[in-house]
Amino acid sequence: MSTKSNPKKSNTPPQEFSELVANLLVSCFRGLKQSLSKDNELTKKLENLEGVVRKGVRISPASGLGKEIEEYFDRQKTEQNFQEEEKEIVKTMVLEVAETIRSMLSSSSGLETNISACVKNIEKAKSIQDILKLKDTFVGEMQKVRDHSQSLNDELEEHRKASTVLAEKLEQSQAQALVDSLTNVLNRAAYNMKIVQLIHEFKRYKEEWALLVLDIDHFKKFNDDYGHRIGDRVLKSVAGTVRNTIRISDQIFRYGGEEFVVVLNRVDVSFATQLAVKICRQVEKDYFVDGDNKLKVTISIGGTIITEDDTELSLFQRADKAMYQAKENGRNQVVMDA
Ligand code: GH3
Ligand code: MG
Ligand code: MG
Repeated sequence: MSTKSNPKKSNTPPQEFSELVANLLVSCFRGLKQSLSKDNELTKKLENLEGVVRKGVRISPASGLGKEIEEYFDRQKTEQNFQEEEKEIVKTMVLEVAETIRSMLSSSSGLETNISACVKNIEKAKSIQDILKLKDTFVGEMQKVRDHSQSLNDELEEHRKASTVLAEKLEQSQAQALVDSLTNVLNRAAYNMKIVQLIHEFKRYKEEWALLVLDIDHFKKFNDDYGHRIGDRVLKSVAGTVRNTIRISDQIFRYGGEEFVVVLNRVDVSFATQLAVKICRQVEKDYFVDGDNKLKVTISIGGTIITEDDTELSLFQRADKAMYQAKENGRNQVVMDA
């Protein structure tokens, strides 16, 4: 029926529709603002536009598609922060190597290198790609020094190995996502990169940190009793609880399946144990609610403190073994390998 034949019918969309659209727009604005700097002109324009949209309609907490939009931007932000941090770290590591070479050169005369030019270019680098482009020149320069000097010291070798491994991992990471799409926390690929850098930093700065391996107890039973969809939601909920319990300087990664890894920075064994117990208790307290069902979820945690001789593998194996001990002791508890 045409509008003409029904003069009462209005062209204005129903109130619920306006609210839905306004809510979706607000979710988009929030997400977009997250990825822009505060003084970006677009931020101000978006804020003004958000003000206009908010006028006259009720804005409620995001749900449905709005929530999905916010989660998408949240994932983008986590990934962006991680990449940004990694870029700075690679820069620092490469500059450290340059400094070592420079100091070696001052004691060995007659060798021409382009190290200074390399350093200038690295300092100017705006992205990881820029640094990676310089890698070959840099490695070549290091090779010159190496050939020249018969005995390179251990420190240089350690730096070279660490920065080459990290650069390779960064190169790989350009091609893959670093955030787990189900739980929105960093994934195994991000963990693999981060752990190389953390071990390197410990050897240099000697600041202790802890690695925790977390595994959901009897998780298979959730899938069996309530289906995979609920299982997935439990995973997401546990990841969220852990993320909200740890400090901003600590990090959680989804290692695989129902297993997570947490890095606690600047802790000794006693503080790490306290924090791990806090995580364990918080997960137990946060019942998972599905309609009328209130499901108790628990986790077992194994933890360890980094040592001088550790490799990625030895560190993980120690924490994993402690986690299995926590399972054997009756689950829902923490075992520290101390
Ligand atoms: P335990 O207390 O000994 O850890 O028992 P468990 O049941 O948690 O351990 P088990 O390793 O036997 O089972 C893990 C289950 O996790 C099996 C697998 O189907 C499930 N799982 C792994 N990844 C996912 C996922 O992404 N979604 C869902 N829903 N289930 C998953
Ligand atoms: Mg497991
Ligand atoms: Mg399990």
